[in-house]
Amino acid sequence: MYLSFDVNSQKTPLSIDTNYIYELPIYSSKRVLVIQGYNGLYSHKGDYALDFKLKKGSAVSAAREGIVYKVEDQFKKGGPKKKYLNKGNHIIIKHSDGSYAAYWHLKNKGVLVKVGQTVQKGEIIGYSGNTGFSSWPHLHFDVYYFSNGKQITIPTKFETHKGIKQLKVYRRYKKPTLIIDQNDKNTIPKNFNKIEYHFQGASVPPEYHKSYSWIITESSIRYVANSYGTVLKDTTQQISLEKWEQCKTAFLNCGIKNKKEVTHEKGCTGGTSITIKTWLNEKENFSGFASKCGGEIEGNLTGDTEKFLSKIKEGIDPTFYFH
Ligand SMILES: [Zn+2]
Repeated sequence: MYLSFDVNSQKTPLSIDTNYIYELPIYSSKRVLVIQGYNGLYSHKGDYALDFKLKKGSAVSAAREGIVYKVEDQFKKGGPKKKYLNKGNHIIIKHSDGSYAAYWHLKNKGVLVKVGQTVQKGEIIGYSGNTGFSSWPHLHFDVYYFSNGKQITIPTKFETHKGIKQLKVYRRYKKPTLIIDQNDKNTIPKNFNKIEYHFQGASVPPEYHKSYSWIITESSIRYVANSYGTVLKDTTQQISLEKWEQCKTAFLNCGIKNKKEVTHEKGCTGGTSITIKTWLNEKENFSGFASKCGGEIEGNLTGDTEKFLSKIKEGIDPTFYFH
């Protein structure tokens, strides 16, 4: 019987954080189907493992931060045959509590990280495939620890659009669009595929008081500058997924978020302001505004906006935004 799987047959060591909330290991914000769950009769007997149905070449992201422990991406083939056992490309990441996460069946040359490298939660680490013991393109994910040299898998909870869940077979899940920062309860967007950084110069002359916008998507970056309605520059260039990922990570790492306490406008003129917005599939899911006026900052935006802007500019040829 399916339910005869004894969830308490192993006592998890106290050092292992069984309450950790994982992020879905799929970079996409679309829904993903679980095709085999815990103790699945096909190949997960007695294991707390999950199989996500994924098209070959889908970006796989780290479900939890850690250090890359092992990688393999030389294999080219796969199938439901014994000869393919242990012939799957994979990434193993070691977590701070001593547990490991395994990401299996990646495509040939589909590993983007190196052993010893630190990875952040949500960072792209490789591309899915169908290598090793696998009947169809998918990502196998499990978390385990070692006990007398044996791998003991443990159940994991994920942040999903339906809340914090243990994933079940034949259900579809996607990442949440908004999360609550555990530290200060401020809202920050978790998933977005468009960012706008808008700087508004002072509303009074002199003329060097310009305004500009950076609009970044997964494939392009656009820069628009104007001065009192005159467009000075409007240019777009293609960017790599890595560059987009860098901007997205910078948003989170620079602590861009809405302040709990909103400081009100004091009716000041002549100040400058910054508006930062994010969208997920053309739906705005974050907006923050801060204005600088007479040394005081007003608005509901907080975080290191200067550092964020410098990260956006990183790797972009200055002629792109120079005018
Ligand atoms: Zn599996």
